Amino acid sequence: MDGNLPVLICGAGPTGLTLALELSRFGVPCRIIDRTLEPAAHSRAITVHSRTLELLEACRATERILMFAQKIRHVEMVAGEHTIMAVDFDGMPTAYPYVAAVGQETIERTMIVCLHEQGVSVERGLTLTALHQSADDVEVVLAGDGGIERVRCRYLAACDGAHSTIRHLLDVPFDGHALPEHFALADVRLEGALPRDRLTVMLDPNGGIFALVPLHDAWRAIVESPAELPEALDLVDIQRLIDAHHIPTRVSAVEWSSTYHVQQRKVARYIEGRTFFLGDAAHVHSPRGGQGMNAGIADAVNLAWKLALVVCDSIDPRILATYHDEREAVGRALLVATDNGNRAVFNANTAVRALRNAVAPLATRLPLVRDRLRENIAGLRVAYPRSPLSVNDVPARRGLRAGMRVRGHRPGGYRPQPVVIPESASGVPTTIVVRPDGYAGYVADGTHAGGANTYLRNVIGIT
Ligand SMILES: Cc1cc2nc3c(=O)[nH]c(=O)nc-3n(C[C@H](O)[C@H](O)[C@H](O)COP(=O)(O)OP(=O)(O)OC[C@H]3O[C@@H](n4cnc5c(N)ncnc54)[C@H](O)[C@@H]3O)c2cc1C
Repeated sequence: MDGNLPVLICGAGPTGLTLALELSRFGVPCRIIDRTLEPAAHSRAITVHSRTLELLEACRATERILMFAQKIRHVEMVAGEHTIMAVDFDGMPTAYPYVAAVGQETIERTMIVCLHEQGVSVERGLTLTALHQSADDVEVVLAGDGGIERVRCRYLAACDGAHSTIRHLLDVPFDGHALPEHFALADVRLEGALPRDRLTVMLDPNGGIFALVPLHDAWRAIVESPAELPEALDLVDIQRLIDAHHIPTRVSAVEWSSTYHVQQRKVARYIEGRTFFLGDAAHVHSPRGGQGMNAGIADAVNLAWKLALVVCDSIDPRILATYHDEREAVGRALLVATDNGNRAVFNANTAVRALRNAVAPLATRLPLVRDRLRENIAGLRVAYPRSPLSVNDVPARRGLRAGMRVRGHRPGGYRPQPVVIPESASGVPTTIVVRPDGYAGYVADGTHAGGANTYLRNVIGIT
């Protein structure tokens, strides 16, 4: 039995792969296992948001993902004649002012290549079947063609997806509800030139939606319907939808299609003993906002540097509890936002729809509303203001506050770093301790290193 393994990652989807990339970049020994023999061949998620591209820069996945991505610079939502919402990503405060449309299978393949370059391979054909946690470690049973292997690790990362085995083994509830709507996806080839840098989501009067998302070399048709859908959409089904929405194009081939139901669920605690829940194992929600994969990747980036500090620098492991504090709050907000958004935007009630059609276009023309909307879509507004790791020198500080994303400054390693920004919005220099995930831990006016050092010692635990 391997008794010295710091971290075992169960599941090589985008979440587990990101965690492995981050940990190996930080020099934390880890193993990543998956029960499948091959990476998934079909795409599920297709939208990578600006913040995710920022987070994946350090492990060099971003530049490679972008080679296969279609950049969507404009998103609009229309209901018949009405444009309900129109958002341009140009001018957003990020190096990636667009949604990168790229299939999840390509993202996973790219991550596997990057991981390989960092000396780690996914161990496939291994299924985690049992586990036992003690105060000091976790013992897991892995079943594969070669028989049974028992592994002892200090920490276990449950990145094993929506039907998480680990969640079941630990008897952790996954509370929430199923959405009544039916969803279908299809990857299609189109004849006829549609603009490839924009995404139009079309709302039906019956509460359903239809969208054609441009990919690098194909299109993803997304259908949502209050009525039952066929098990897989064929060419005739999709052409009918295209014609119904007066889109000037023809389908020449359907390469893959699948229907599914969506759940809105979440674990109450992201940490159970020495086990961490990440990605779909921790939260699942409607794909409408395209947030699922992006949230899982952000979970992994949040946890990795904290694990590295504990494993490599032996700092107080209580810092790991902040993974729950920070990411559970984001997961909870995501479920509330998708539920509220669904009710407001996809409502079949005529009066609500009329109100929506009248108010939404006006509201989204206001610069403040527009900026918030597009930065929310891009994942740029995620912040940890209430985290125990977020400390401001003055409670009523304006502008940049602890817990907010710091643009353009991100330490290369796993230790938070003090930086001084000479010309801040307040007119005086600002001292920031930037966390390895690019969020401000400590923010203070002035250039005094004392406060930053006290923060690193007393809050992070670096001596
Ligand atoms: C049809 C469909 C469409 C979607 N569309 C979108 C979208 O447009 N945008 C979006 O953001 N998200 C979308 N999602 C959600 C997105 O795919 C997930 O959020 C994402 O895959 C989560 O990644 P993950 O790594 O957490 O889990 P997964 O990708 O599910 O990976 C879990 C891995 O764990 C492995 N595993 C499971 N149990 C065990 C075990 N006991 N032992 C070993 N290995 C195990 C599995 O083989 C799998 O490889 C969609 C999902 C589906 C199904």
